Amino acid sequence: MNIHEYQAKQLLKGYGAPVADGVPVFQKGEAEAAAKKLPGPLYVVKSQIHAGGRGKGKFKELGPDAKGGVRLAKSVEEVVAHTNEMLGNTLVTKQTGPAGKQVNRLYIEDGADIDRELYLSILIDRTVGRPAFVVSTEGGMDIEAVAEETPEKIFTLAIDPEAGVTAADVKKLNEALKLDGQAAKDGETLFPILYKAFTEKDMSLLEVNPLIVMENGRLRVLDAKVSFDGNALFRHEDVVALRDTTEEDEKEIEASKYDLAYVALDGNIGCMVNGAGLAMATMDIIKLYGAEPANFLDVGGGASKEKVTAAFKIITADPAVKGILVNIFGGIMRCDVIAEGVVAAVKEVGLKVPLVVRLEGTNVDLGKKIINESGLNVIAADDLDDAAKKIVAAVKGN
Ligand code: GDP
Ligand code: MG
Repeated sequence: MNIHEYQAKQLLKGYGAPVADGVPVFQKGEAEAAAKKLPGPLYVVKSQIHAGGRGKGKFKELGPDAKGGVRLAKSVEEVVAHTNEMLGNTLVTKQTGPAGKQVNRLYIEDGADIDRELYLSILIDRTVGRPAFVVSTEGGMDIEAVAEETPEKIFTLAIDPEAGVTAADVKKLNEALKLDGQAAKDGETLFPILYKAFTEKDMSLLEVNPLIVMENGRLRVLDAKVSFDGNALFRHEDVVALRDTTEEDEKEIEASKYDLAYVALDGNIGCMVNGAGLAMATMDIIKLYGAEPANFLDVGGGASKEKVTAAFKIITADPAVKGILVNIFGGIMRCDVIAEGVVAAVKEVGLKVPLVVRLEGTNVDLGKKIINESGLNVIAADDLDDAAKKIVAAVKGN
């Protein structure tokens, strides 16, 4: 789950991280009062969407010459003018895709005088199984480009979870970021604070790009992107309260109501699978035979008929789906339950695209019987290879 920049900053401020004062704005009429709460003379008006690259982004409605999604302002009047131009319009950035995202919230912030822009993030480094800091002196810009063109400018430091961020770790991070004097002292407090927030709140990513050294030599968190581990949300009510469902895919919201592990993708073959590994393998084999999956969907080990029905409805409601592949290995999951769910869902919503079903495992004969006697137009498959070939052929119309 992702949150907005202003929410992330609020959260980090609670841990003692240095962030600017700011006020979120939801309506055009709120901009003036928001700006007047800040000291000036420099303000920043920042689009709040769940995507990065806002500064270089362009508003669809305003044309290529208009300013981007993060704007500096030198007066309250200018803040108001930017707000009126930005709020409600669609921002297209490298990360939003061509459709862009509607800007429904702005963050008006006290502007900083920047000396240097650095990059800092904390994530789980799966190669070592530990949280790791990733830092670079080349902040503020596209870190993917830095990683590609000048990888030597990126420094990674795994943290021993038993020890936390040690003095030696701080020293290494300060050196990698070329921080000295007051900025290095700020680093001493900031790095452990960020690590504490990351671990206590079960974040999967905490990215500060840029972390800045201000002209007065102090560090400040200028941008903040935070993602949380969905599997740990049950123990963070405060985090769940920050969720903005208008930023999420409707199909994913519906799936989360039924506790389905669902991720919308760009292809046209809808997949209903049990088990994350089998779901990954199913996506791989669809690609192997030259088509693209429309989603990742793991209905889970012990899914009920209701859950399967909900999953099937989500898949069929996606207009991009031109064929459906049900691939179930019934270990804990019973094939008859899957079959009942599929039949119930088709009776409710109809079936306008080819459906290939591959069932194997517990109660497989009963499952096949339910499908065969349902009168549904199902293409039966014997194994995964056969199933993938059949659905790809059906979607491609041969
Ligand atoms: P992003 O484009 O979505 O990553 O948004 P950021 O919050 O990172 O802002 C983009 C850029 O705007 C930063 O890299 C800075 O160069 C600039 N910027 C943001 N806030 C300030 C500020 O307070 N003062 C100044 N001078 N520039 C800022
Ligand atoms: Mg940024």
